[in-house]
Amino acid sequence: MEVTAAIVRGESKPFEITTLELDDLRADEVRVRLVATGVCHTDAIVRDQVYPTPLPAVLGHEGAGIVEAVGSAVTTVAPGDAVVLSANSCGTCESCLTGRLSYCTDLFNRNFGGSRADGSTAFTEGGKKVSSHFFGQSSFASHVNAVERSVVKVDADLPLELLGPLGCGIQTGAGAVLNSLKVPAGSSFIVFGTGAVGCAALMAAVVAGATTIVAVDIVDSRLELAATLGATHVINSRLQDVAQEITRITGGRGVDFALDTTGIPAVLRQGADVLAIGGTVALVGAPAPGTEVSFEIGASLTKGWHFRTIIEGDSVPQVFIPKLITLWRQGRFPFDKLTKFFAFAQINEAFDASASGETIKPIVTF
Ligand SMILES: [Zn+2]
Ligand SMILES: [Zn+2]
Repeated sequence: MEVTAAIVRGESKPFEITTLELDDLRADEVRVRLVATGVCHTDAIVRDQVYPTPLPAVLGHEGAGIVEAVGSAVTTVAPGDAVVLSANSCGTCESCLTGRLSYCTDLFNRNFGGSRADGSTAFTEGGKKVSSHFFGQSSFASHVNAVERSVVKVDADLPLELLGPLGCGIQTGAGAVLNSLKVPAGSSFIVFGTGAVGCAALMAAVVAGATTIVAVDIVDSRLELAATLGATHVINSRLQDVAQEITRITGGRGVDFALDTTGIPAVLRQGADVLAIGGTVALVGAPAPGTEVSFEIGASLTKGWHFRTIIEGDSVPQVFIPKLITLWRQGRFPFDKLTKFFAFAQINEAFDASASGETIKPIVTF
């Protein structure tokens, strides 16, 4: 069938709305008519080829829509179901079998490879391959053939256009706090970067009961929003010294948990430097391959501190996304405050609004 899609034709080229051919469903695939899809930093860095998904490609990995048809082996959804689309995984490696889907040993191929395992693509243009199956979905299209493992059924009464970002950015931040770090009530938490991931993390820290929640950014409007979401302290790191401020805020103790959403080595290092004894600094940002960081390991030896990396918030999407929706329904996880809607044809403007910091989580609607 013919579909409308946003294609990236070359490195750092803008998204171009065009008509592509979508092939037939495979046994393990679900035809989804997209209602909306979130715009994520990962789409931008693949457009810019920091990660080498073959171009031309249809990107997009925070889709939400309605199931129109299912492949012969699909059992978890049926036509008419409302679904959110999330990351793909193999289902058979040791990580997948132990519920650590985001550390699937085939993670790169399944999410960034640009094709099915057999090398075919769902999209073609004039008979030529166009990369598909980005995060198992490639949701910058009016209709997609998503893999069943990427599909999460949600309640039919929900505002579906809002939910796509739960599939990546929002679950990453919230999952880092609730699943990975398991931040306990009464603890102290600092997040570097108040984009969608950072804001989701700080809202989750509120849910977890952290009592000192510090947001760090360089954009004042974002810090103002962070304060409304539950940050107890905000630091503009362009104007203020983070280490000094943390010493002041915590009475010299340091913080129990630091989360870096920026992937900038100097920021990650700062997170390690402000830890309390036994604290953990975690990275959820996406640095370019080959990026290195240095830590002070002399004086900090006696701290017994931890560093860990986190992918997709250690989320099992089919389990975690419904929990986030319940928290949202209860008014305890107001991620809708981060969103702004753009028409699909305005997709480049949506990316610009995200890059400038003007909008935290743009969503394009179909
Ligand atoms: Zn796997
Ligand atoms: Zn993402």
